[in-house]
Amino acid sequence: DAKRRGRNTWQLFNPDLARQQHDRVQIEAQLRRALDNQEFRLVYQPLVALSDGKVRTAEALIRWRSPALGEMRPDHFISHAETTGDIVRIGAWVIEAACRQMAAWRAEGFALERVAVNISYRQFLTEDLPQIIADALAEHGLPGSALELEFTERVLIEDAPDTLHTFEALRALGVVLTIDDFGEGYSALNYLRRLPIHGLKLAQSFLQGVPGNASDVAICQAVAGIARSLGLDVVAEGVESPAQRDFLLGLGIRTGQGFLFSPALEPDNFAAFLRQTGLHSPPAP
Ligand code: C2E
Ligand code: MG
Ligand code: MG
Ligand code: MG
Repeated sequence: DAKRRGRNTWQLFNPDLARQQHDRVQIEAQLRRALDNQEFRLVYQPLVALSDGKVRTAEALIRWRSPALGEMRPDHFISHAETTGDIVRIGAWVIEAACRQMAAWRAEGFALERVAVNISYRQFLTEDLPQIIADALAEHGLPGSALELEFTERVLIEDAPDTLHTFEALRALGVVLTIDDFGEGYSALNYLRRLPIHGLKLAQSFLQGVPGNASDVAICQAVAGIARSLGLDVVAEGVESPAQRDFLLGLGIRTGQGFLFSPALEPDNFAAFLRQTGLHSPPAP
């Protein structure tokens, strides 16, 4: 039968498509029980002052160890969790776990300014995000300023009627609001004046060609210029070399994260990194 259809059969038996479909079904089935089975954990990447390497913030990044599928990186499962809607429950867990870790570090005497978590557009579209965040802060005795939320431009292009309202409700909690991967998506610059955000994270892809590639350099300069004029903070992601760090400092960008400083670390290793960089003062007796 397949033979009779001749040259068109590849469409029916494309092994890549078949494998993708199989992976998708597998991942979605495993994701459903992963939270209850406690298969997720958070690792933390330091955001540092580019001038002296001192840690400012910890970005919480999710990791999934699936008994069936092995260690899965977020780029391989977040989009599936968004499709199924599981991201809403997973995301609420991330917020709570990051606040719990932040409170523990503070109690141990680490003068960390805040912890940042990534928020999916699906989470953003649920009505109770501000409430989930208020509850997590209250439960762990943290001020809003101890938490930063990173949104991608996907949140902005969905442009739900409540977007401005949700941003305002979050802002009222005192949390810090940042646009992640800035420039990589569908930047419509007008939201920068419409929404009450604090800062931008320059997308990693623009830094890759710096300082050699003239257009990457131009884009970094432009983003730094826009941010400065609008009074927004800029963080550079994916800083891998001293040349990139020096270029960013030259643009007046003060904070960065990347393998030059540290990859994402398990909590104990993050605490060791804080001790090393002098951010530890033992709690008063
Ligand atoms: P992101 O939020 O932009 O995080 C930065 C990613 O770049 C992380 O990958 C980090 O490990 C990686 N990275 C950091 N420094 C460097 C560097 O110098 N060079 C290179 N090449 N890469 C660097 P990771 O942990 O695999 O996360 C990938 C993405 O998955 C994140 O991008 C974020 O969009 C998403 N994600 C991670 N955790 C969560 C979460 O809890 N919730 C949601 N909704 N998304 C998450
Ligand atoms: Mg992020
Ligand atoms: Mg990013
Ligand atoms: Mg990213």
